[in-house]
Amino acid sequence: ARPHRALVLPSGVAHCHHKPNPPIRIMQWNILAQALGEGKDSFVRCPLDALNWQERKYLILEEILTYRPDILCLQEVDHYHDTFQPIMASLGYQGSFLAKPWSPCLDVEQNNGPDGCALFYRRSRFSLQATAHLRLSAMMLPTNQVAIVQTLKCQETGRRLCVAVTHLKARSGWEKLRSAQGANLLQSLRGITFQCGSSRHDEAPLGAVPLVVCGDFNAEPSEDVYRRFSSSALGLNSAYKLLSANGETEPAYTSWKIRPSGESCSTLDYIWYSHEALSVQRLLDIPTEEQIGPDRLPSYHYPSDHLSLLCDVSFREQPHRLM
Ligand code: NDP
Ligand code: CA
Repeated sequence: ARPHRALVLPSGVAHCHHKPNPPIRIMQWNILAQALGEGKDSFVRCPLDALNWQERKYLILEEILTYRPDILCLQEVDHYHDTFQPIMASLGYQGSFLAKPWSPCLDVEQNNGPDGCALFYRRSRFSLQATAHLRLSAMMLPTNQVAIVQTLKCQETGRRLCVAVTHLKARSGWEKLRSAQGANLLQSLRGITFQCGSSRHDEAPLGAVPLVVCGDFNAEPSEDVYRRFSSSALGLNSAYKLLSANGETEPAYTSWKIRPSGESCSTLDYIWYSHEALSVQRLLDIPTEEQIGPDRLPSYHYPSDHLSLLCDVSFREQPHRLM
């Protein structure tokens, strides 16, 4: 059976006495493109059977349905139109997909089309205000990486939330490119989330729209692009740091795989959130090394080489604002 993952309280968060707004559940997951898993990745300790799409897709959907996120951010989606879009739509989600301009999936024989990022939100909780499909650039030049940014309006609270999903350039040696892509994404997000003061004199200025950025950044916390995100003027914090006792340390891994070149155990995936506007209520625990097992990821139990990340966030009270 699939190992159980607990929803835990984050560290350093005072347990509030009043009830917060109903939390918004956010899931981030690089689900492993089917064409890459079968045709490019060479996960030498993963049995080929475990990569069979007709079975693997149910493991991915089972994981999503176990936690029923309100917002779902995926990377390496190469089965959007034939699988995730129709299934998620039937479950009450609205989806958006953006393919990579030159997806490496297209090099694989019998591929199912390009992979890309997908963003789903629950239609009963949000209405859509705006969508931006971005091709990330670096030093003014377009790159092969993309992002989807959507501004949503929360029905219960009337508050807006901006959500972004991205997948930065992979592999070592490309740290500078990732950093430049991150800078480009941050610049776009500043433009999208900053709202000038309302023209109505009886309304307080709206300020910036609270932001959540989910992604496979392909970067350890020691990399420049991580520093850029944690120190940007947008006031972002990485949610999974709150799993650690001091609230300052990222998990030891979000991806763990064995290729012919060796074993790679690394923290690459993040959920960034505006810490002044949002608070984290719950985090889905990271499986232990024993739960992951000696052959690492993917496996019969875990359908991707990346772990899903999941957190509940809620809007902080805003005493200075008169709705
Ligand atoms: P990336 O380097 O970002 O990697 C693409 C994918 O490969 C990612 O999903 C990544 O997964 C996975 N990956 C990472 N490391 C390995 C590995 N060691 N073995 C197998 N897969 C791995 O690629 P780009 O987006 O920059 O695209 C590069 C590819 O795109 C080229 O190989 C080419 O096929 C194609 N291309 C074609 C062009 C054309 O003109 N036809 C132009 C440009 C690109 P993860 O993020 O999980 O690590
Ligand atoms: Ca991959």
